[in-house]
Amino acid sequence: MKEVAAGGAGVSPCAACKLLRRRCSPGCVFAPYFPSGEPHRFASVHKVFGASNISKLLQEIPAEHRGDAVSSLVYEANARVRDPIYGCVGAITSLQRQVESLQTQLALAQAEMVRLRMANAYGTARHGRNGGGSTASGSPSSMSSPTKTADHHDMAVDQSGVMELELECSRFWSF
Ligand SMILES: [Zn+2]
Repeated sequence: MKEVAAGGAGVSPCAACKLLRRRCSPGCVFAPYFPSGEPHRFASVHKVFGASNISKLLQEIPAEHRGDAVSSLVYEANARVRDPIYGCVGAITSLQRQVESLQTQLALAQAEMVRLRMANAYGTARHGRNGGGSTASGSPSSMSSPTKTADHHDMAVDQSGVMELELECSRFWSF
C-alpha cells in the first residue's frame, strides 16, 4: 500500500491531490482510497463534505477502517448529489416503508394460514361428530347454521386482519 502511495507521488498524484492541485506526498491520507483512475469518487465527497473534513475524519479513524469509511462517505455523497433534499435518508425512508409493507403482508399471510388451519381442524371435528350421531334427524339443519355464521366471520377476518382473527378464534371454539 505504501509502495502504491509512494509510486503515486512520483508518477501521478492521487485523485484528491489532482483535484486540489497539490503535490501528492508519500504519506498522503487520500492516496490509498482515491486512486487517480477514479476521480469522480473524490469529486463527490469533496463537493459534499469538503476535502479538509474528509482528511480530518480519516486521520481520526484506525487505518483498517478507513476503506469502509471512504465507501460510506462516497455512497452518502453520491446520494446527496442525486437528491439534495433527502440524500441517503430518502433511500433509507423508502426501504423502511418497504419493510413495513412487507411486515404487514407477512402478518396477513400468517393470519390467513392460522384461519385455514382452524377451518380445517373444525371441519374434521365436525365430520367426526356427524359420523357418530347419524341417527338424529334434526341434527343436519342445526349443524348448518353455525357453519354459515363461521363463514360470515371468516369474511370479516379477510378484511380487517389479525385482531379480527383472534376474536374469530375465540368465537370459533365456543361453538
Ligand atoms: Zn494524494
